[in-house]
Amino acid sequence: MKLSFHGAAREVTGSCHRLEFLDANKKSHAILLDCGMFQGEHMCGDKNMTPFGFDASAIEAVFISHPHADHTGRLPKLVKEGFTGPIYMVEPCAGLAKLVLEDAHHIMQEESEKCGSSVLYEMEDLTSTFEQVKTVSYHEHIELASGITVVFHEAGHVLGSSYISVDAEGKRVVFSGDIGNDDVPILPDTEPISHADVVICESTYGHREHEGANTRGDKLREAIQDIIKQRGVLMIPAFSIERTQELLYEINKLLLEELHTKLPIFLDSPMAIKATALYRHFKNFLKFDESILKDPDKDFFSFPNLRETLSVAESKSINDAVPPKIIIAGSGMMSGGRIMHHLIRYLPDKNNRLLIIGYQAQGTIGRRLYEGAKKVRIFGEDVEVHAQVSAIGAFSAHADMNKLTRWLKPEDGKIPQKIFLVHGDPEAKEVFATHLRHTLQTEVVVPEYQSIHEW
Ligand SMILES: [Zn+2]
Repeated sequence: MKLSFHGAAREVTGSCHRLEFLDANKKSHAILLDCGMFQGEHMCGDKNMTPFGFDASAIEAVFISHPHADHTGRLPKLVKEGFTGPIYMVEPCAGLAKLVLEDAHHIMQEESEKCGSSVLYEMEDLTSTFEQVKTVSYHEHIELASGITVVFHEAGHVLGSSYISVDAEGKRVVFSGDIGNDDVPILPDTEPISHADVVICESTYGHREHEGANTRGDKLREAIQDIIKQRGVLMIPAFSIERTQELLYEINKLLLEELHTKLPIFLDSPMAIKATALYRHFKNFLKFDESILKDPDKDFFSFPNLRETLSVAESKSINDAVPPKIIIAGSGMMSGGRIMHHLIRYLPDKNNRLLIIGYQAQGTIGRRLYEGAKKVRIFGEDVEVHAQVSAIGAFSAHADMNKLTRWLKPEDGKIPQKIFLVHGDPEAKEVFATHLRHTLQTEVVVPEYQSIHEW
């Protein structure tokens, strides 16, 4: 078997791995596990434009772990370069992936207008790409050729996320995709691995431990109680997929069951509103408390106080609502989107709060606020920060060191012979690699970009 890495090797984005093996008749096959985009400060950076390092037309099938752009964003490029085979993913993943790739196209176009860079794909390329998508079920056996089977398993990272197992040449290779955190409110738990000979494992947070789920609820409750008392505004910049829906679910429970208030919550992000509609549609793929499941008609994300402001006019009307109020808006890192307008309006007032619930990259306004800046510049305007700024780490969508280590121990008790660490900053990978070599006593490889490994 031959494995090569074409992204997310010694970095976090661009997940794309090529696996080559022989079937029972000694015929060779090549597949891709993910085909993601490199993301950084500029989405349309040169790295996405560089050749894949393999012949796209010779790939037989692609298997997609989950909808995030860093796992799907180079699919249209692959199709443009001659790939004609099926693109397998589970059903909810297909809907969300389309949203994600349309949004990425929109951002690339904006950047192209600003800096003259070329866009990676056009909307028509997306149409032809999605014509090749074949949706499958979890645990369905996809027989690629005699002796070769691929299966999707629940990863618990976002709606429709999977880890993927490939049985070929009498061995099982497991690809993690992104593995979810423990105790996520609405997602099923990550399935344990039954058996694996080789694992390609993400390591985003392989170097640290997350705070517990209880801390998350406590901090959220405290922030809401505060703005009720101060008649203020709670701003939560959120990522459209998964974290927004988890937040809505948790806030709903808090407001209705504990705080008994009809405080208005504005969901002010077109992308998050569309993603939430998909969450409603695919609610059978989610996990809810017993009490909620007993009521089959319950719409889990449409509680009475929720107002979805899709149009610009609706978004502007949020200003007229008398506080206290909660505003959930993108972008999650405060690098653009509707949250910017709310920051300008509400940051200068000490009665308001900003709650940061996700990773803030270097160079973003979110990072500056997270680090305690007293003044930020938004749309050419200096904005004084008097609102209270706090952060909750437990909303992370990724497993930490403990969860990944547990997941890497298969149920049959046999530790995988080889573990390749991908999808992590070099420092995180080195720390996690040393930890795994010590705890699991097995070979751990931190592969380089475009390196080839055979066994
Ligand atoms: Zn992801």
